[in-house]
Amino acid sequence: MLNRVNRVALIGTGFVGSSYAFALLNQGITEELVLIDLNKDKAEGDAMDLNHGLPFAPSRTKIWYGSYADCGNADLVVITAGANQKPGETRLDLVEKNTRIFKGIVEEIMASGFDGIFLVATNPVDILTYAVWKFSGLPKERVIGSGTILDTARFRFLLGEYFDVDTRNVHAYIIGEHGDTELPVWSHADIAGLSISEWTKNKDGFNQEDLNKLFLNVRDAAYHIIERKGATFYGIAMGLVRLTKAILRNENSVLTISAYLEGEYGQNDIYIGVPAVVNRNGIRKIVELDLSDDEREKFTNSVNVLKKTMEPVFKIS
Ligand code: NAD
Repeated sequence: MLNRVNRVALIGTGFVGSSYAFALLNQGITEELVLIDLNKDKAEGDAMDLNHGLPFAPSRTKIWYGSYADCGNADLVVITAGANQKPGETRLDLVEKNTRIFKGIVEEIMASGFDGIFLVATNPVDILTYAVWKFSGLPKERVIGSGTILDTARFRFLLGEYFDVDTRNVHAYIIGEHGDTELPVWSHADIAGLSISEWTKNKDGFNQEDLNKLFLNVRDAAYHIIERKGATFYGIAMGLVRLTKAILRNENSVLTISAYLEGEYGQNDIYIGVPAVVNRNGIRKIVELDLSDDEREKFTNSVNVLKKTMEPVFKIS
């Protein structure tokens, strides 16, 4: 009798999707990976190319170009399909275009009998995660958006550079919309257990203005990268692999993801970036930080901007 193995289905093998598949293979996270894309040649070519790396991979991954029927046995469906951000275009500009594409994709996936976990990265990610939750009918715990996982990674990287400390020892979150209204939670940022103000006490050369600029670089990073190379994909691909590992290996890891709020942070009926405990069942628990007044105000603004943008599409009150 065959043992049950983990299967990830990837919908969309563009820049983000193919980088995710490559990182997933290199880290040996899943036993099966099926690639699906509207552009069949691209998905098929990627499957062939990735398979040729198998002799050098840490473990065996069965990779093939497939169809939506293959989602029926999947544990995790990762969606990176859709139109991407053009230079000068905000993530919210993409809302209607990608919601339409998503309706078709999610209907096909659910028709396969899929009953696992969805992980969404396509932008605007908070709104499209909400769309997947609505279109799929799955419980909110099993529909996850990549949210601010990438923004938090950028924040930790830049803080690590600024203080010359390994980024993995920097604990700081970006929450809110994955986009222009996101915010840093300075009130709970720490390095090795010391708050930023404790860390900088009596430090020559420290400048609060630098930290404010650092956050702006986090918030606007996608624009800066898109101006230079047309798209961003490696960082988010590794963030998606991190989430995949947390899910498939039942890690109970705290990651900033887009989660459905039902009273947490005083908000309802919205998917937005917050820290949450992630495991084999999806979102186990949302971590509610005690935000400062200023942070709470900015978070509420972020929720309101998202709701306003979604209103015409989902008729949210
Ligand atoms: P891309 O254009 O390279 O790839 C998109 C892929 O989706 C293409 O291969 C296309 O053929 C496929 N596709 C389009 N419609 C489809 C459909 N109906 N069914 C199946 N496949 C379909 O774009 P990209 O650079 O890979 O970006 C993908 C998405 O990821 C964008 O929305 C982008 O904004 C988003 N993104 C998110 C983050 C994040 O932090 N969440 C970071 C970077 C990019």
